Amino acid sequence: MAEVISRNIGPVILLGPPGAGKGTQAKRIAERYGIPQVSTGDILRENVQRGTELGVQARSIMARGDLVPDYLVCDMVALRLRNADCQRGFILDGFPRTAAQAGWLDAFLENEFFDNSHRGKCLPIVIRMDVDYNQLLLRLTGRRSCPTCGRIYNVHFQPPRVANTCDVDGSQLVTRNDDREDVIRERLTAYELQTRPVVEYYEQKGRLVPVNADLPVDEVSEQVFREIESHSTAAAGRS
Ligand code: ADP
Ligand code: AMP
Repeated sequence: MAEVISRNIGPVILLGPPGAGKGTQAKRIAERYGIPQVSTGDILRENVQRGTELGVQARSIMARGDLVPDYLVCDMVALRLRNADCQRGFILDGFPRTAAQAGWLDAFLENEFFDNSHRGKCLPIVIRMDVDYNQLLLRLTGRRSCPTCGRIYNVHFQPPRVANTCDVDGSQLVTRNDDREDVIRERLTAYELQTRPVVEYYEQKGRLVPVNADLPVDEVSEQVFREIESHSTAAAGRS
């Protein structure tokens, strides 16, 4: 079993366009450091599936590749981050995605989250995952996932051992209904228009750590782990 590192890690923010590999790396970070992955896309999809009030509001917006309104997503994130399992740290995958969400998150971490912890304040590490555009398209059109355990595959790059079947639990893999070419284009446009400013927001604060996410999964993980460890060591030295 992989080594689990038990020191406080704090918030890890993964930024990058759809298909950059945020979910794939978030699962590996979660396993290595024992902190939860908070994927706003996964939480929203779960709400759509369960037919909750939030799911009903989000369903058609997600189907066309637009962003769900900030107030709905921020309320949902606040609820999740108040869970006890987030005290040592958490990985934000797919959030913040607008400048308003980034501002909201800073205020939330400053005013609320760390006041309740035993370790004082800690700035998030913000990792930007850079991937070539054509590679993104292949990653998105080839993505398959397990509806039971959430494991992510790719028909081109990480195929399951048996076609269309999860290696872990044998479930039939599914294709997300927003991984169709017309919707992919909308999602990439939403990223350029609404999420690029988030990248700039953190860049201006000197908090952005770029990672070459065009490399194979293990090599991307190596870079990500190295950055997280040097950030959490530096934070421990300051406290
Ligand atoms: P995101 O969460 O950023 O949308 P995912 O983690 O779901 O991205 O990855 C998108 C697709 O790309 C998946 O099919 C995944 O298996 C594949 N993938 C992720 N990282 C890599 C990588 N470094 N090299 C090749 N394929 C990758
Ligand atoms: P993802 O799984 O991150 O690719 O997200 C899938 C979809 O969920 C997006 O295309 C949006 O419609 C919605 N979504 C996820 N996260 C957010 C967010 N932070 N803000 C607004 N909409 C979101």
